[in-house]
Amino acid sequence: MSSKTLDAFLQEGLGELKEQGLFNVIDPLEGANGPQVTLNGKEVINLSSNNYLGLATDDRLKAQAVQAVESYGVGAGAVRSINGTLQLHLELEEKLAAFKHTEAAITYQSGFNCNVAAIPAVMNKNDAILSDELNHASIIDGCRLSRAKIIPYKHSDMEDLREKAKQATQEYHKVMVITDGVFSMDGDVAKLPEIVEIAEEFDLITYVDDAHGSGVLGEGAGTVKHFNLSDRIDMQMGTLSKAIGIVGGYVAGSQSLIEWLKVRSRPFLFSTALPPGDVAATIEAVDILSASKDLQTQLWENARYLQEGLQAFGFDTGKTETPITPCIIGDEKKTQQFSERLMEEGIYAKSIVFPTVPRGTGRVRNMPTAAHTREMLDAALLAYKKIGSELNVI
Ligand SMILES: *Cc1c(COP(=O)(O)O)cnc(C)c1O
Repeated sequence: MSSKTLDAFLQEGLGELKEQGLFNVIDPLEGANGPQVTLNGKEVINLSSNNYLGLATDDRLKAQAVQAVESYGVGAGAVRSINGTLQLHLELEEKLAAFKHTEAAITYQSGFNCNVAAIPAVMNKNDAILSDELNHASIIDGCRLSRAKIIPYKHSDMEDLREKAKQATQEYHKVMVITDGVFSMDGDVAKLPEIVEIAEEFDLITYVDDAHGSGVLGEGAGTVKHFNLSDRIDMQMGTLSKAIGIVGGYVAGSQSLIEWLKVRSRPFLFSTALPPGDVAATIEAVDILSASKDLQTQLWENARYLQEGLQAFGFDTGKTETPITPCIIGDEKKTQQFSERLMEEGIYAKSIVFPTVPRGTGRVRNMPTAAHTREMLDAALLAYKKIGSELNVI
């Protein structure tokens, strides 16, 4: 027996999405998520993953993961606060704090979990959160869970932020400003020096979600380090799933902040700890990033090569300041058609359209990584040129 109400709800919802062309079909990979991937039996060049440094398939990380699984097993066995904390977790947290230039750090099971953990742990219904209108979904959910008043400000608009900060500090108890470090759809970087100035003027709590900045900017330490603001941002969140290549997330900040999160943040208290294999691989990744900038250098070289190549053909790559490379087509249908044609030419780059980005700004989003070879990027550029002329985009 199934609920008739549920059935009706699902049929109606799914029908609507399919009708509007918003139903997402998922293509499973038939192997590793590297610079090339196999799907539907075909090997294609992968410009769709967040595996910026190619670490998801790195042999050094794999070896550490295998060894940790042999020693510790596959699961942590409990939540962190009962007996799921392994020495490995503490070792990783120490390394992350050093990497981020903060006193301490706490890990969670995902970047998403960090935001739904840390924001509600410090903010409540007497408080207000000033949130960039383009912030990630996990920030929005974290803010909602806190029950604080959410006050969105216009994307990277410092005048709007200042005005709203002035108002909010008169009406609410604590006030936080929260922003992505790097905005994932356009690749632009938050104006952290100005945000910090406003925050210091109005005594705002500062929170930067550096999911796309860590491992990429600031010699790997992220956007906060990039602007030399490590001692002026209260809470730095990062993910272990993008440049680090594995899974999990962390919040870095003062000793007392981390102590508080360890007793008050719900995903730490009520959800099982990261598994040992993943933690060991992450420690290796952080060691690699701390020891050498080679992977970052390669990533930026590849990103520049792809962006300059696309621009030379006359494509619009928007306002990116990072390896995230949008190729703005405009019309939604044409954008989807462009991405489909790329796939036929052996290039896997996802189309991103309304409602993820504003109407009329459909784009194919390219994620070059350190693991792509010059030949792969040249193949991608060749396909772009061909399809760009074919569809009258360039
Ligand atoms: C990807 C992302 C997250 C979520 O990180 P996961 O580790 O994948 O859960 C959070 N915030 C931002 C800005 C992101 O881009």
